[in-house]
Amino acid sequence: MSISTIPHLIDGQLKSLDGSETRQNVNPATGSEVGSAALDATEAVDQAVAAAARAFPDWSKTPVGDRVQHLFRYKMLLEEHIQELADIVVEEHGKTKGEAIGSVRRGIDCIEHACGAPVLMQGRTLPQIAVSSTFCRSEDEGGVGIDSAVDRVPVGVCAGITPFNFPVMVPMWMWPMAVATGNTFILKPSEKDPLSALRATELAQEAGLPPGVLNLVHGGHDVVNHLLAHPGIAAISFVGSTGAGEHVYRSAAAHGKRVQCMCGAKNHSIIMPDANQGAAIDGVLGSAFGNTGQRCLAGSVVVCVGDSADWLVPGLVDAAKKINVGPGKEAKTDMGPLQDADSLSRVHDYIEVGIQEGGALLLDGRQASMPSQGCFVGPTIFDNVTPDMRIGQEEIFGPVLSIMRAKSLDEAVAMVNRSEYGNMAVMFTNSGHAARKFENTVQSGMLGINVGVPAPMAAFPFAGWGKSFFGDLHTNGEDGFRFFTKSRVTVRRWL
Ligand code: NAD
Repeated sequence: MSISTIPHLIDGQLKSLDGSETRQNVNPATGSEVGSAALDATEAVDQAVAAAARAFPDWSKTPVGDRVQHLFRYKMLLEEHIQELADIVVEEHGKTKGEAIGSVRRGIDCIEHACGAPVLMQGRTLPQIAVSSTFCRSEDEGGVGIDSAVDRVPVGVCAGITPFNFPVMVPMWMWPMAVATGNTFILKPSEKDPLSALRATELAQEAGLPPGVLNLVHGGHDVVNHLLAHPGIAAISFVGSTGAGEHVYRSAAAHGKRVQCMCGAKNHSIIMPDANQGAAIDGVLGSAFGNTGQRCLAGSVVVCVGDSADWLVPGLVDAAKKINVGPGKEAKTDMGPLQDADSLSRVHDYIEVGIQEGGALLLDGRQASMPSQGCFVGPTIFDNVTPDMRIGQEEIFGPVLSIMRAKSLDEAVAMVNRSEYGNMAVMFTNSGHAARKFENTVQSGMLGINVGVPAPMAAFPFAGWGKSFFGDLHTNGEDGFRFFTKSRVTVRRWL
């Protein structure tokens, strides 16, 4: 039995608008149908842009302190509904319960950050920046003072395009800061798991956001391209793969829009011989296999310096064998399935590529103890990988860890810096000198020292370098507020 297409949320109302194509999503652990999303309903975009444009004049004039009251209420609603949202994430994405709860919690952090808008969108003023002597009638000193100020004002109707891997959290990197600063917003969540974002957006309406301030449209590439070209949209925030992000960046810019694109990754963890062994093994394991490797911050390459491989490699293999692979909703599960069948066949293909390239397959996830149905693959570890191999260069986005070996820290950093990405890099060491050298030489936007997944909290900007990011301003932190506002300078003279 097929389930009817899930609705868009436009102007505060759930609306059914189908195009000619839909995507049927299934629970990746069980194969049971969970929902079907319209892929090319561009009419929904037009209606959402019209609703957002209607809402903009009043919303942008609403005092910022009043705007954030909706977000304070929303935060409380999310706390009440955290389990419900996490259950939807487990069902349509496949995360474990713990991962799903954690991901919603990181989203709530973003709401709290956005509630700081009354401070974070403030401008600056400099009185008496100059003196005008042309009409020196009113100042005894012989000139009229000139003051200058810069304010930050909303940019207009903004849109967000998000990936499947954090369906509640990633949209919250965008719209809360956008609406707190007076913009109106259209979210286009991933077509692979759109129910979580829809429920989270419904809750925002329950928190009292006026109709049209936050809208959600479903769709695939056609809908994204319609958003990118739409003359009514001023700014685009994108999170997803590098290929799609490059396209979004070029197209949005060509259509005169402000754009930021947080993209794909291939992240390295450098392990020094003096590292705390337990912390390094735990850190690499969690980073490589957490969320089944489907994280832009997954440390999917480990670079062992000197003889650190002697304890790290057997330690990793032993610990990875103990990871319990199964449905995310079972309490004993450590690692859930991949999100869909395409992801499973991509990961299987990469394991074959690694074998063909001459990697030493220490642990083959295809042979793991796991359910026979569903998109499951176990932790996989290749040793003797080099930076030239595809498995050492390309984003696999699954639980496949590549081990490289370097004689020195300099050689390890050079290996990291050969990557075309630059999202994050991690080092485990007890040496401040080595850590400092790493920080100052490695080419990555987010760094971890003795931390496996250095995800910045919402008050700090989140994004990488290289092909992991296209744009100027990162998401979250102060950058997020700057991205969703434009500066306006006023020079004042009172005669
Ligand atoms: P994806 O690029 O396939 O999809 C992301 C979004 O872009 C979706 O909404 C999709 O509909 C749209 N899209 C995809 N291809 C398109 C095209 N050709 N034209 C127009 N629209 C297109 O990414 P995904 O598989 O959903 O997510 C995984 C990717 O996201 C990984 O590469 C991961 O590293 C990346 N990611 C990056 C970050 C970060 O902060 N850098 C965070 C999370 C995920």
